[in-house]
Amino acid sequence: MVHFVGAGPGAKDLITLRGKELLEKADVIIYAGSLVNPELLSYARKGCEIHDSKELNLVQVMEIIFRAEDAGKITVRLHTGDPSLYGAIREQMDLLEERCIPYDVTPGVSSFCGAAATLDMEYTLPGISQSVIITRMEGRTPVPEEESVEALAKHGATMVFFLSSFDTKGLSERLMKAGVSPEMPCAIVYKATWEDEKKFVCALKDLHETAEKHKIKKTALIIVGKTVAQSGYEKSRLYAPDFTTEFRTGTGEHAEEK
Ligand code: SAH
Repeated sequence: MVHFVGAGPGAKDLITLRGKELLEKADVIIYAGSLVNPELLSYARKGCEIHDSKELNLVQVMEIIFRAEDAGKITVRLHTGDPSLYGAIREQMDLLEERCIPYDVTPGVSSFCGAAATLDMEYTLPGISQSVIITRMEGRTPVPEEESVEALAKHGATMVFFLSSFDTKGLSERLMKAGVSPEMPCAIVYKATWEDEKKFVCALKDLHETAEKHKIKKTALIIVGKTVAQSGYEKSRLYAPDFTTEFRTGTGEHAEEK
């Protein structure tokens, strides 16, 4: 059996209870050493076979898994954040399916949630933005044209850029060319929830300079949108005193509203 497990954004105690239990009982752990905090490996039992996938290609990862499977062992494939985002898990699942090897997935706290916590930020502020666009700039992996930075920026929603801090110059220029205000608030969160985490809030026009100044090129998220300022929002209806909900009777003119 193979368990794909989300390691969480970094801090050792931000893995789920289920994820930790799986690490404790694994015979083999293959972890993404470029982004997973190695402290998480302290949950592994004595004698567990541990591999860092940053030195391996897909064939080599699968060879380790197949060997473990032939020996009736339990493998944990530990991915950073939540495995469903930029985790390259589908290609591994397909190869497991070809061999009828069972697997399951344990979700994790994605780094975009870790970054929001670090910033004390709510992504979805009423009256400002009710959507979060999770995306990336193209690198070696292409991005469909309909999902280009320019196309997505038109929505005016909060944008979270993964895998893009290598080119803050290109990103900010493209956003501004697409009509995003140079004064738009942005945040750079480096290694959210790790001990050496860093965070910076600036205007879009200063994004590149800020990243350069603090030498941030990788392991960072760039958040762009009015919600980064965390002000000027409307209070939620859900907790409005005059508002009646399924669970609570309100006091005011909207008391009958559902
Ligand atoms: N599955 C992961 C994302 C993997 S892609 C998740 O859910 O978070 C790798 C990219 O994620 C990095 O280039 C960086 O943009 C981002 N990332 C991962 N961990 C991070 C962290 N702790 N702080 C900031 N960004 C992080």
